[in-house]
Amino acid sequence: MGRIVLKDIRKSYGAVDVLKGIDLDIREGELVVFVGPSGCGKSTLLRMIAGLDRPTSGAIEIDGADVTQRSAADRGLAMVFQSYALYPHMTVRANMAFGLQNTRMPKAEIDARIAEAARMLEIEPLLDRRPGQLSGGQRQRVAIGRAIVRRPTAFLLDEPLSNLDAELRVSMRAELSALHDRLKATMIHVTHDQVEAMTMADRIVVLRSGKVEQVDTPLNLYNRPGNLFVAGFIGAPGMNLWAGSAAPGGFAVQGGPVLPVAAPAGAATVGLRPQHLVLDPVGPMAAKVALVEALGAESVIHAGLDGGAPLLAVLPGQPGLVRGDTVRLGFDPAHLHWFDAQGLRIGG
Ligand code: ADP
Ligand code: MG
Repeated sequence: MGRIVLKDIRKSYGAVDVLKGIDLDIREGELVVFVGPSGCGKSTLLRMIAGLDRPTSGAIEIDGADVTQRSAADRGLAMVFQSYALYPHMTVRANMAFGLQNTRMPKAEIDARIAEAARMLEIEPLLDRRPGQLSGGQRQRVAIGRAIVRRPTAFLLDEPLSNLDAELRVSMRAELSALHDRLKATMIHVTHDQVEAMTMADRIVVLRSGKVEQVDTPLNLYNRPGNLFVAGFIGAPGMNLWAGSAAPGGFAVQGGPVLPVAAPAGAATVGLRPQHLVLDPVGPMAAKVALVEALGAESVIHAGLDGGAPLLAVLPGQPGLVRGDTVRLGFDPAHLHWFDAQGLRIGG
């Protein structure tokens, strides 16, 4: 249970088209992450799936049944919001029980479900507190607990970790992944954070301006981004993307050197991840260092190529470079990504 199929979902608010035809097939038990820049339509799409809002056109199926016109209460899904949306005047226990009491579930069953979820989330000592007496991370656990006790067909989580500090975010995302393994329920997790997407997802849906740019496993998106947007969005820091054209001896980068590599027909942009550049005294790229971000284990080098095009390199350790240094860099041509004039990936 928990397969969710979206068929050509469109949503307009007046003259503004927010979702422009979304097709998706989310498998039973899958953890799918919707990722994309702020305002691209992630929350809108999740609200359509939840039934909190209706699409302008298109259909939503859950386990083969068309639920497009069904109310949120009839869809068997549970949503967790960034804002937690807990009732401040109720205890944690009452917050978790609230949705179940409305279904007239027997008290013993409600108590058993709350006890089980509280144990799973390690919030047993908090059950008699009110939300105001909890930290942000504890509140988020309670919000997730309130979803778990409903035993939904699928969990819909809209940026549930965005209000947490960086350290807590890292541990909560590991907890959510573990919870998914244990519950084996379908989960749709929305985030604008591509690291969160990479670390949690079975499959990532990359959205931009109300359209799906690419759907694939995290590593397939990283290794084979289908277009320039995905190439730039997945991976941190972002991939170097240099416009250019085939030239005698290789590929001529605008504002840079001629790279001695065989460019495929139609190549208009070459991409190279900062981690795939290496210091090489006979490498084809000469760059002047503009800024060094020394992180200890690695160093992020912001530099300019001879013709002025920017270059970003992530070098291991502490290479001892400072602003104004000139470096030569090389790469393994197998790491190059090629895109055509439309921004689409060329080749495998
Ligand atoms: P995301 O969650 O990806 O940041 P949203 O789905 O919240 O983006 O919003 C997508 C776009 O739709 C935004 O440009 C937003 O302003 C617009 N939008 C969302 N809800 C409404 C609404 N009720 N009326 C008008 N525009 C809306
Ligand atoms: Mg949103």
